[in-house]
Amino acid sequence: METPAVIVIGAGLAGLVAANALADQGRAAVVVDKARAPGGRLATRRLVGLGERTARLDHGAQFFTVRSPDFAEVVHGWRRAGLVREWCLGFGAGGDGHPRYCAEAGMNTVAKFLAASVDLTCDATVHSVSRHNGLLRVTMTNGDTLVSDSVILTPPVPQSLALLENGELVLPAGVVDELGAISYARCLALLVTLDGPSSVPDPGGVQLGVDDHPLFSFVGDNEMKGISDVPAVTFHVHDEPSQRMWDAPDTEALLLAAARPWLGERTVVASELKKWRYARPLVASTATHVGLESGDGTRLVFAGDAFAGAKMEGAALSGLAAAEYLAG
Ligand SMILES: Cc1cc2nc3c(=O)[nH]c(=O)nc-3n(C[C@H](O)[C@H](O)[C@H](O)COP(=O)(O)OP(=O)(O)OC[C@H]3O[C@@H](n4cnc5c(N)ncnc54)[C@H](O)[C@@H]3O)c2cc1C
Repeated sequence: METPAVIVIGAGLAGLVAANALADQGRAAVVVDKARAPGGRLATRRLVGLGERTARLDHGAQFFTVRSPDFAEVVHGWRRAGLVREWCLGFGAGGDGHPRYCAEAGMNTVAKFLAASVDLTCDATVHSVSRHNGLLRVTMTNGDTLVSDSVILTPPVPQSLALLENGELVLPAGVVDELGAISYARCLALLVTLDGPSSVPDPGGVQLGVDDHPLFSFVGDNEMKGISDVPAVTFHVHDEPSQRMWDAPDTEALLLAAARPWLGERTVVASELKKWRYARPLVASTATHVGLESGDGTRLVFAGDAFAGAKMEGAALSGLAAAEYLAG
């Protein structure tokens, strides 16, 4: 009997790396994502800027670091493809000497590159994952279904658990406890385009602790980073104010006022507020993935940046680990 394609839920970094790794192992995969395009938190937005020209702003991940040999190998492929380059050796005076990488044309291009070689359907929101005739059945909100013996779930863990609950798929109690403990911080992101260069210092990024600034955790000048042809700045907000200001009607105005030191005397051409409900795992798993094999031979794998050490590196390593688990 032909081996059914692995179903990968989520076309963020973890899901796309997993699908590519499965293909390398000769196992077909189908990837579904609820968004209009792949990338998840590898997100790049276009916004009107100086002279009606289009600015490009990373509004999820801003840069990444490379610590493990496995991620270095993945990134080597991205560098060979001309997708990514070193941005700087850290932020602040002199940096810390550790390379920070960025994508040449915005982080989302990394996702597009990885998605080009996989069978991907976007605008496909999964409603449930259930057991059906000895297989796993993935049901979309539009009623379409996919079946396979293997499913990789890469949405933020609370969202993945909700899909199983919708499908009345019961997990062992210990696993529910482990996965149920995983939680995420929210993040507000303010995107601003200007009529001239910002006041963000070299190399175009400022990392701030809660003691440095009450609101912002990162300020990134997308023009200085080299991804925007016109001045465009991204502001990320710390966990606590993101939570507190989430639904407040005047949040964008308040953040714009607080952003002024980095905008100098420039006039704001356009601004936009983006909300990341699941921005960053607060409590993560110590495992690289969680794989569950049931008596009927079906395998369910949880992966994503809540595993393998968070951030882009963790998401990629978790995707690799999920594919390896299924290969084994
Ligand atoms: C504001 C912000 C700043 C960040 N800065 C950095 C940084 O500077 N450096 C760094 O290394 N990392 C950074 N990160 C983290 C990095 O972006 C993530 O770790 C990584 O992109 C996560 O990838 P993932 O595949 O695990 O999850 P995601 O990218 O969240 O992918 C999950 C996918 O699942 C899809 N999905 C969810 N539910 C469903 C459903 N029901 N049906 C179908 N599809 C579904 C989503 O649409 C999404 O595409 C940042 C993140 C944010 C939000």
